[in-house]
Amino acid sequence: MKKFKEVAGNNTSDLSEMNRSAIVRILQQKEICSRAEVAKMMGLTQASITKLVGALIDMGIVSEVGIVKGNGNRRSIGLRLNAEKNLVIGVKFSRHVFAIGVFDISGKLYTQQETEYSLNDFAEDVIASMKEQIHKLLKKYKNVVAIGLAVPGPYLRGEGRIAMVTRMPNWRTVNFIDEFKHEFDKPVFIEQDANAGALAEWWFGNHDRPLNSLAYFLIGEGVGSGIVDHDRLLLGNLGIASEVGHISIDYKGPVCECGNRGCLELYCSTMALLKKAEKDLPELFEKPYENRAEACARIFDAARAGNKKAIKLVNEIAEYLGFGCVTLINAYDPEIIVIGDSIAQGDELLLPTIKKIVEERTLKAISSNVRIEISKLKIDPTLYGAAAIATDRVLRKPSEYLTLNKD
Ligand SMILES: [Zn+2]
Repeated sequence: MKKFKEVAGNNTSDLSEMNRSAIVRILQQKEICSRAEVAKMMGLTQASITKLVGALIDMGIVSEVGIVKGNGNRRSIGLRLNAEKNLVIGVKFSRHVFAIGVFDISGKLYTQQETEYSLNDFAEDVIASMKEQIHKLLKKYKNVVAIGLAVPGPYLRGEGRIAMVTRMPNWRTVNFIDEFKHEFDKPVFIEQDANAGALAEWWFGNHDRPLNSLAYFLIGEGVGSGIVDHDRLLLGNLGIASEVGHISIDYKGPVCECGNRGCLELYCSTMALLKKAEKDLPELFEKPYENRAEACARIFDAARAGNKKAIKLVNEIAEYLGFGCVTLINAYDPEIIVIGDSIAQGDELLLPTIKKIVEERTLKAISSNVRIEISKLKIDPTLYGAAAIATDRVLRKPSEYLTLNKD
């Protein structure tokens, strides 16, 4: 088994790079900031900051801009990250569709495109089309510094393959690292979809800072979660940490594809919701639906219109999401849980029940310190997450990646 290893020792030069990285990460969030503010946030002396910022300006990563009001009405020069010079390509790969978007490292979208395919298509044909589209975008957008790819979990990131692909037989043997690592003259970083969503919320979600820990609870065709804890994505040994979709909520329950019984995913994924709805509310599906997200929207709309059966189904789903949140809280101690993907369309119909379950089943000292929200991202969280994978990695090594487009 190939293991992934990213951190070994740190040389003295690495320390400067770590500090430069901390500065660009602050500027990614704050947009414009004075040297004094950065010094305060990092707990470094003004002299150290001046030296570090000087290097970032010389490298073309940071610019001085205008005047900002500092402490005691002192006016200081503002600093900003040259985000528009550093673009990333995000690629979302899922069961029926792949999407590609060009963003800058502040999360601004430049263009996006989507390609549908059937599970009967050959995987190599789909991958060839994906590569061709990326090559075209790289020709058009010269300032791309990295590519992020989000794939369905559980993804073994050391090996480069998806561990459970029973509904995608053509994809069983695909190795994403072999396919993409050396295809382009840009670095490619790959993570699973829930981790991508967590990074999208972390970098582009506009959450109040400082933020210690964020859990992204993905409820779509699959159920999963991604955790960013103190600025780091939680990976585990194989990269599959926080697979809460496969935590059993009934050890005698139905058998899951993963080998466990009664997995949370079997109760609250879009597939689980639709299976019940097609039986209890067949009138909603007389007209065929385009995709599961749209089918779920019909159920939530019916509940909003007062349909009692729909309300009952939605409440059941909300209860399962509540159990999932209790698990996330006990396992990872998040400051905020953000619920995203298709089921999040239930929004205000789901939140009161989820919060009630969390209050009932966790200690008050804990539950009162966790915020539970529905994702407010306007862009598909997995596609945005793919861009966030690349953003996260390039911001960690600014002098390596953000100097590619200096001139
Ligand atoms: Zn399972």
